Amino acid sequence: MKTVGLIGGMSWESTAVYYDLINKGVQKRAGGLHSAQILMHSLDFAPIEVLQKESRWAEATHILCDSARRLEGAGADFFAICTNTMHKMADEVAASAKIPFIHIADASAGVLKDAGLQTIGLLGTRFTMEEDFYKGRLSQKHGLQALVPPDGERETVNRIIYEELCKGQIENKSKKAVQGIIQNLQKCGAEAILLACTELALLTPPEKSSVRLFDTTRIHANNLINLILEE
Ligand code: GLU
Repeated sequence: MKTVGLIGGMSWESTAVYYDLINKGVQKRAGGLHSAQILMHSLDFAPIEVLQKESRWAEATHILCDSARRLEGAGADFFAICTNTMHKMADEVAASAKIPFIHIADASAGVLKDAGLQTIGLLGTRFTMEEDFYKGRLSQKHGLQALVPPDGERETVNRIIYEELCKGQIENKSKKAVQGIIQNLQKCGAEAILLACTELALLTPPEKSSVRLFDTTRIHANNLINLILEE
């Protein structure tokens, strides 16, 4: 069994989901008392969020590259960042270690393409919805078109992520607001919705939705499970 390295804590609410999903997946597939070999570097999200807000991306990149090197030094066979947003510096973080880096958007794109989808609605933080590091990768590397909500709705989703979900708060009115935003994306041509924020499925679990929702946390975790169990 291989050892996965996780850069987590952004937020810990969703990193806990990764820990749970990866262990459950390995236990189910390997049987008996098996559980996953996980090395985790869980960061304090408060100073990271300040760096995001103040666009101090070089400092944030330095912190994540340091995490990658720690995980490699501790013996991880491959590693992942447990947040979509911080894939903004994925290239630099991947290059900072010699072990393979497993990109959340590549894992998700594989599943979306296997499902025969071409146009998806993308929900995540403002950074993920507005900048090119995520949408650009989906289109240029994978040929997928990502639609995002209009400005006011992007602000609503972003606020719900940082002010509620990252603090473990699940509010009914936020659930309704996100459901409305999802319906609007469908009206604009989205064949399915990619929950490109690792906390969003805490609010709108795909299994309880009538709309096709793809959860990046679950997809990423499944990809990691496959690699952990690879011979
Ligand atoms: N976990 C979230 C994501 O997947 C948002 C928190 C962050 O900014 O990293 O983007």
